[in-house]
Amino acid sequence: MIKIILSAVIMLAGILVWNFSDHANTSINNTAKFMLSDSTKKQGTQMSDKIIKTDEEWEKELSPEEYRILREKGTERAFTGKYWDHHEIGTYICAACSTELFESDTKFDSGCGWPSYFEAIDSSRIIYKTDKSFGMTRTEVMCAKCGGHLGHIFDDGPPPTGKRYCINSGAMKFIKKDK
Ligand SMILES: [Zn+2]
Repeated sequence: MIKIILSAVIMLAGILVWNFSDHANTSINNTAKFMLSDSTKKQGTQMSDKIIKTDEEWEKELSPEEYRILREKGTERAFTGKYWDHHEIGTYICAACSTELFESDTKFDSGCGWPSYFEAIDSSRIIYKTDKSFGMTRTEVMCAKCGGHLGHIFDDGPPPTGKRYCINSGAMKFIKKDK
């Protein structure tokens, strides 16, 4: 008697599982298709968003000073760059990939000898990375699109953000605003 009940239960379970897996297969297939198209899309955007070039390619495109700063994380000497004392109205863009990084109305005189901004146009255009070189702990600032080194960010800026983006002039170009 128990055997009969058991086999009936097993059969029933078998049917249920068979039915379920059939449905599940269809829905898994749909999910997989959806996920595939979604991840392909994402990958596509990311690939077109990021600029990846070899050192040789960058060396050809950039001036020696731009290359030294952007690709080798160099720093221009204080008070020597073209923008530390620059007051025109416009936009500062990445010298390597032309991403718009800073607006002139966020620039302030920090007295440090490098162009300083209290805010980036869009923080998603910036990569922030802990930098422990030279026995200091600082936050390095890079261009998110091309990975070029721009400078560092400090917490001693003016309101409203209290931040100071301390950026090498040589990592940027300036686009004057049309009146
Ligand atoms: Zn860039």
